[in-house]
Formats: sequence, structure tokens, C-alpha cells
Amino acid sequence: MKSMLRIAVAFFAAILASTGYAQGDFKVTLLGTASPTPRPDRFGPSTLVEAGDQKLLFDAGRGVPIRLRQIGVPIGRLDVLFITHYHSDHVSGIPDVWLTGWLAPPYGRRTSPFRVIGPVGAKALMENLQRAYALDVKIRLEDEKLPPEGAAVAAEEFDKDGVVYEKNGVKVTAFAVEHGAAIKPAVGYRVDYKGRSVTLSGDTRYDENVVKHASGTDLLIHEVGAARPELLAASVPMQRIIAHHTTPREAGQVFSRAKPKLAVYAHIVLLSSEKIAEPTLDDVVAETRQTYAGPLVVGEDLMSFEIGDTVSVKPYKK
Ligand SMILES: [Zn+2]
Ligand SMILES: [Zn+2]
Repeated sequence: MKSMLRIAVAFFAAILASTGYAQGDFKVTLLGTASPTPRPDRFGPSTLVEAGDQKLLFDAGRGVPIRLRQIGVPIGRLDVLFITHYHSDHVSGIPDVWLTGWLAPPYGRRTSPFRVIGPVGAKALMENLQRAYALDVKIRLEDEKLPPEGAAVAAEEFDKDGVVYEKNGVKVTAFAVEHGAAIKPAVGYRVDYKGRSVTLSGDTRYDENVVKHASGTDLLIHEVGAARPELLAASVPMQRIIAHHTTPREAGQVFSRAKPKLAVYAHIVLLSSEKIAEPTLDDVVAETRQTYAGPLVVGEDLMSFEIGDTVSVKPYKK
């Protein structure tokens, strides 16, 4: 009897231990997975990482407040926004996140400064946004009596690889990536929490630094750029765009070397012209499969991932 009890206790302890992580303790949600192309099904690039009670946003493309509303995360609850680089599709949602997150309804209510961390350029961007929206802030302070601290901005910037954020067991490391000679700075990030990790490539071509920092990571969130060969043969501007991104075949090489538990395409740049269609997502996967045989998912807006003993994937259900 005693031994049966011991077995039962051990059994339930094992269940608790195995589910301790799995219950939303470390979670990623893709808020936007598009390129700059305006489309209703994919919003601008942005990823939410939730670790313990912290909510970290990586890039803020078009439509972030709408996506946060869909998953019931108040904009005002975000702890920090991390910026990968300054292409407009990655930052155009910032004023919306900053100012709508300050409003009085439950989706807002930020009462402390909006914290932003990015490579050099973050301070200038945020100072200029504060100038651009000065009248809105003044009006709402006077008219709606919103708390002034909630409209304030705390921007930090860095100029080399290293830890850029550390709080209650959550560590964020930034690393330089190669997005093109004229597109600097550009960085990726790795988030470490309780022995598990999520790595975001940012926008980059094939880069050894991504392999290095993503090595052994649980979830590798990677960009990808693809075009049909006939389009590339016909267009120098298209060749230039593709040269700023990682092709599916190259991404497969990154995944094969970094060996994540799961790789996901989360910023999908598909080129087309009036005459030549963009490649399909099946084409992208097939080309990736030439260099990578491991776990791979093509991301969609609001797809989420639990980083537990394994990495589980959940498509969004309304
Ligand atoms: Zn870019
Ligand atoms: Zn981009």
C-alpha cells in the first residue's frame, strides 16, 4: 500500500514537473508575419515573448494593437519593446503601441514610461516621435487627465553584441546580423529563461552570427526571402532585395547548423511582379528541405508556441 502511494505521489510530481513550464510560463506569439506589402491576413513584423509575468515585444509593425487585442493582452501591459532595425515596416506601429497603450480603457492604462531598447538610433527615433505627437500628448493630459508618466518614453540603445536586458530570470542578448551594407545597424535577439531560449534572427542574410547565437536554441524565429528564378533573372532591384534576406536554402543551412528544437519562418518576404507570381509557401518549404530535414513551421499571424520540455505549436483559433 505504502509503495503504491509512493508511486502515485511520484507520478503526480512528475506530471507537475512536466507541466510546470508548459502552462504559459514561456510563450511566443507571432503578431505579424508580413513583409512591407499591405495585406489583411498578415500584419507588419512583430513578435510577443511572454516569460513568467514579463511581456516583451520584438519590433512593432503595422497593426500590433489589433493583434494584442485579439489575444487579450493589454497594450499597456508590455514591459519592453526591442527593435531589430529601422526599416519602416518594423517600426511603423510604435506610435500606436506607445500612445494607444496609454489610453484609459482596459486595453491601455500604462502608467509608467514606455520602455524601448534598440541598436543606435532608438533614442533619435523615440525623441522624434515624441516631437511628432507632442500635441496629442498635451491634449490628452489636459483633456483626459491621463497620467503623465504613461506618455513618457525611456529609450536605451547599444552598439555591440551582449546582454541588453536582464530581469527576474529573463535575459535578452542582442547580436549583430548582416542585413546589407547600407542597412546598419541590424540585430537579432536571444531570450533566455529558466534554461530555455527563443532566438529571433531579425532581418538578415545568411549570417554566422545567427548560427552562433541560435545554437541549441529551443525556438528559432527566422526571416526568409524568396522569388522565382525568372523574376530574379529579369530584375536587378529584385536581386538587390533578395540579397538583403536569407533564401529558404540558406535558412535551411542555418537551421541544420544551429539545430533548434523548432524553426519557424516569421517574416516572409515573397517577391513578385505584374507578370511573375510570388513563390508559394510550399515552394519555400520545398527549397528549405534541400538543406534541412528537421522540425519547421511556416508562421502565421497569431500562431503561438509554448516553450516547455518540447516546443508546441498552436495555430490561432477565433
Ligand atoms: Zn529590413
Ligand atoms: Zn523586414
